[in-house]
Amino acid sequence: MAYQSTNPYDGKVVKTFDEINDRQLGEKLTAATDCFDNVWRHQTFAERRAVLARAAALMRDRSQEFAELITLEMGKLIAQSLGEVALSAAILDYYAEHAEAFLAPEKLTTPRGEAMVESSPVGVLFGVEPWNYPYYQVARFAAPNLMAGNVVMVKHASNVPQCALAFERLMEEAGAPVGAYTNLFISKDQVAQVIADPRIRGVALTGSEAAGAVVAAQAGKGLKKSTLELGGSDAFIVLDDADLDKAVKHAVSGRMGNSGQACTASKRIIVVEALAERFLQKFQAAMEGFKPGDPMDKQTTLAPLSSEQALKTLLGQVDDAVCHGARVLMGGKRIAGLAGAFMQPTILADLSSANPAYRQEFFGPVALFFRVADESAAVKLANDSPFGLGGSVFTQDIERGKRVARQIDTGMVFINSGAVSSPELPFGGVKNSGYGRELSGAGIQEFVNKKLIRVN
Ligand code: NAP
Repeated sequence: MAYQSTNPYDGKVVKTFDEINDRQLGEKLTAATDCFDNVWRHQTFAERRAVLARAAALMRDRSQEFAELITLEMGKLIAQSLGEVALSAAILDYYAEHAEAFLAPEKLTTPRGEAMVESSPVGVLFGVEPWNYPYYQVARFAAPNLMAGNVVMVKHASNVPQCALAFERLMEEAGAPVGAYTNLFISKDQVAQVIADPRIRGVALTGSEAAGAVVAAQAGKGLKKSTLELGGSDAFIVLDDADLDKAVKHAVSGRMGNSGQACTASKRIIVVEALAERFLQKFQAAMEGFKPGDPMDKQTTLAPLSSEQALKTLLGQVDDAVCHGARVLMGGKRIAGLAGAFMQPTILADLSSANPAYRQEFFGPVALFFRVADESAAVKLANDSPFGLGGSVFTQDIERGKRVARQIDTGMVFINSGAVSSPELPFGGVKNSGYGRELSGAGIQEFVNKKLIRVN
């Protein structure tokens, strides 16, 4: 069974769902196209705003129910699941309120006549989404695009089917017409069919590099625009003038939030020599304080990974890193005595650039620790990565922080904090972390036709 809820805390299968067949898929594509052509593209911003604002309100009213589904299916700590629900509702509200201004017609200065650029929707969009933030990822794709007048179809990750259905029902209850938001339980072959279908006008994927390469190639073959939000191995740079306690606090939350399963987690901790020893002592002490347990229990501070397979992959990476000369400063093993896929909080050091781990993404509570001589060595190491998603710089001199931020080859840099996502901030990366942006004025423009109208 491809789409299946399995509780990561105890490994028990909760529910399974059938994939739809090709005929059903065809019907859903037709419904989405009809909705775009005959209803949604013609609605006013105020009409679309009403649907999204209602969805946000419903999400907030039932936040506990929405949050428990996340925790049940991918194991996130319940407090963090509630945080994700609040952020998703905020995204729905933000685009409900601001889309019209972002997409306002732009008058151009031209020597003769009159010229303007208007933003019009492009049609049916297809999103492929990951499990690690099951509502936030979908809201990030759906809210701006729906407000722009596009309709969206979503293939969610196969381990969060109940979250996928909950979001579809939410949109329905909020008054979205049939076809405006469609969840698809489909196979990978059907993903290719959807992308090839001439009615699909754009494709967005958030996930791994491997999936991104496949989906982008399929989109390219059909001459369709795509955006990719892929993996990352964000550098967390601590400069010699940083507030040490603040840096440690953010390094711990940046690495351990969502049990380390975030694309923008602080995966490579890079500390200048002057602070390295003191930082490491405090960081390690804090990493030792995590308490594994049931993620539904508010007392638990360490959640399981999303699946046994995820744990196996991570343990394999740690072993391979050690085989290539890395040193385990703490952790490195599965937590014994618990049924779920629990990984010990782990710190690896002595990673040479020849170690495969040096260029890999560790999707779990494993920090790669590096000592460097100074600021310029920190920047060089930060940029010596196939990824370019986010990064952090800790310094008490904000101008220095900005100077360093400008030298880091990523889509986002945060000064004196780990990565954060907020409805108004653009999200996305460069290099193997993908292309295009979601959220903000930049994100909402990705799938609109910027149409020139020239009056002679
Ligand atoms: P994944 O395997 O790539 O899965 C993501 C989505 O892609 C799922 O819906 C998956 O479906 C689908 N998929 C996978 N292979 C596919 C293929 N060949 N054709 C069509 N669809 C395919 O990603 P993951 O490993 O679960 O998620 C973690 C990765 O996502 C990490 O690298 C993380 O950094 C990245 N991520 C990036 C961002 C960002 O915004 N940059 C945010 C979150 C996560 P199935 O579930 O059915 O396989």
